[in-house]
Amino acid sequence: KVSNQETGMIVKALSGYYYVKAENGEEVVQCRARGVFKKRGESPLVGDKVHYSITENGEGTVTELFPRSTELIRPPVANVDLAILVFSVTEPSLNLQLLDKFLVHIEHAGIPAVLCLSKQDLEKEGGFTEEAAEAAASVNRIYRALGYEVFGTSSRKGAGIHELKERLQGHLAVFAGQSGVGKSSLLNALVPGLTLETNEISNRLGRGKHTTRHVELIDIGGGYVADTPGFSQLDFGELGIEDLSYCFVELRKLSPDCKFRGCTHVHEPGCAVLAALESGDIEKSRYDHYVQFLSEMKEIKRRY
Ligand code: GDP
Ligand code: ZN
Repeated sequence: KVSNQETGMIVKALSGYYYVKAENGEEVVQCRARGVFKKRGESPLVGDKVHYSITENGEGTVTELFPRSTELIRPPVANVDLAILVFSVTEPSLNLQLLDKFLVHIEHAGIPAVLCLSKQDLEKEGGFTEEAAEAAASVNRIYRALGYEVFGTSSRKGAGIHELKERLQGHLAVFAGQSGVGKSSLLNALVPGLTLETNEISNRLGRGKHTTRHVELIDIGGGYVADTPGFSQLDFGELGIEDLSYCFVELRKLSPDCKFRGCTHVHEPGCAVLAALESGDIEKSRYDHYVQFLSEMKEIKRRY
């Protein structure tokens, strides 16, 4: 029945409308969703690949959703296939435990992560304390060894921006990282003409930047980035205790060698993780964070 069926991607959702960008072209069509989605309990998301048709009045109708590869809840975006985890070397200072917490959530969502150490310019201004320099070095050492890529950037000086943009080619990415590390500034640096609000202003107003905004995909030329950061909710509510060791890449690899299935790698005999810790084959800080998260999770489960 539908003769003019087109394929595209939802780049924005607002007030019941979906804005669909044609697969081959620049055109963005304002669409309604077909009533059938509601009946099926489905809801189109930004990032969804869809079929749509154009009606007589020039408006469109989303007629079908393609299967999703991933699905984020906050912000609600489908098919994110890359997370840029941003940490500043200083201001705010690097916190490896927080970094691992973000990584756990990103791994749990099944999204590949790359790390980005921002505000590199602060080093040249003599802004790095010995502590900060050490932290930056350990990020490079620890996380590269685990297989994560580590980028260094300065939005202020424009350093590393080109390399990051290259990495984003062909992806639908989301930025993650604590408030103030420079995510908005990075996006502004990546996209000429983009002027996302950065923290100077929102701090003065005393409220978060992304409270009332709707998520929208920003076309960075060959790739897309969500304009709202992901993984801002870092509680372990929806994570099972068994899932945790799966979210640490090195534990995921070693778990099958443990003597007991469902080994928690804390006290069990024949544990491959404890053996690797003993021999120095896995990083102590990573293991410590695993144990800390484990007890945090047990505490939550005990209370509810
Ligand atoms: P977000 O909360 O992660 O989005 O961080 P923002 O982009 O809002 O930046 C937070 C603060 O860090 C602001 O005061 C920015 O001016 C500052 N900032 C961001 N990027 C850089 C950078 O590359 N170098 C320096 N020195 N400061 C930066
Ligand atoms: Zn074990």
